[in-house]
Amino acid sequence: THFGFETVPEAEKAKRVYKVFENVAQKYDVMNDAMSLGIHRLWKDKLLHVMCPQPGARLLDVAGGTGDIAFRFLEYIRFQQERQRRRETRAVETPSWQELSTNYSTEDEDGPRESKAVVCDINKEMLKVGKQKADSMGLVSGLSWVVGDAEELPFDDEQFDIYTIAFGIRNVTRIDQALQEARRVLKPGGRFMCLEFSKVTNPVLASLYDAYSFQMIPILGEVIAGDWKSYQYLVESIRKFPDQERFKEMIEDAGFYCVQYHNLTGGVVALHSGFKL
Ligand code: SAM
Repeated sequence: THFGFETVPEAEKAKRVYKVFENVAQKYDVMNDAMSLGIHRLWKDKLLHVMCPQPGARLLDVAGGTGDIAFRFLEYIRFQQERQRRRETRAVETPSWQELSTNYSTEDEDGPRESKAVVCDINKEMLKVGKQKADSMGLVSGLSWVVGDAEELPFDDEQFDIYTIAFGIRNVTRIDQALQEARRVLKPGGRFMCLEFSKVTNPVLASLYDAYSFQMIPILGEVIAGDWKSYQYLVESIRKFPDQERFKEMIEDAGFYCVQYHNLTGGVVALHSGFKL
């Protein structure tokens, strides 16, 4: 191809992926909105609704980039807690402080259970943009940023309740290795969740989508980020990624159970999930 990704050896692919995201980091969020017409926000919201995380949960968001999944995770839990708190205070007419404090579900013997999200990405430029975004949103507590490779995660075994990877796994050189690592760092009972571009099932939508992605995306990349090649890579990597069923099998091969997927926007994106038992 023009960009030559197909012919490059593995180590070379990793280097090129690094360059792509280094180049686009500053414009990444703007480009995401422009290219998906804002729909990536709905896909990410859907991930959180299916996840339905509980207070105190520990999340690892791999290939987390500028932090969208981690922010939504923390906001989702805070919103649920606030709603619960309001319900409880309404239920008790004039509660004493003792009654209120025993009603809080976020407290346990060691004090409040803090929900934690770790954003891990191989690219420090992407993380830098994410950290700036977190600061400007006032989202600091419970959040940390770690440079690391999905194929060799810098974490001990069985540390996390949930592992997410959103639009990241197709960039990884050895997907089976990344899935093994996901399983290793999850606690027993923990959940693996992946958002990725997939195969459009409706033939009419498929041809519209093909035309849009092959023609519009590199043009938008050139106009907004001054970077045609990076966005051409993006389209090619989406094309080469295994379809829904094949990827489901790969997750099962890595040892996950109850693996299933939902198609979003007619299969433009698929949400796969599975459990470590
Ligand atoms: N998850 C974010 C989101 O949904 O907006 C960012 C997705 S972005 C398309 C892909 C990210 O994968 C980039 O930030 C890139 O640096 C990261 N990445 C690529 N290869 C990786 C690897 N081997 N390990 C960890 N992250 C990787």
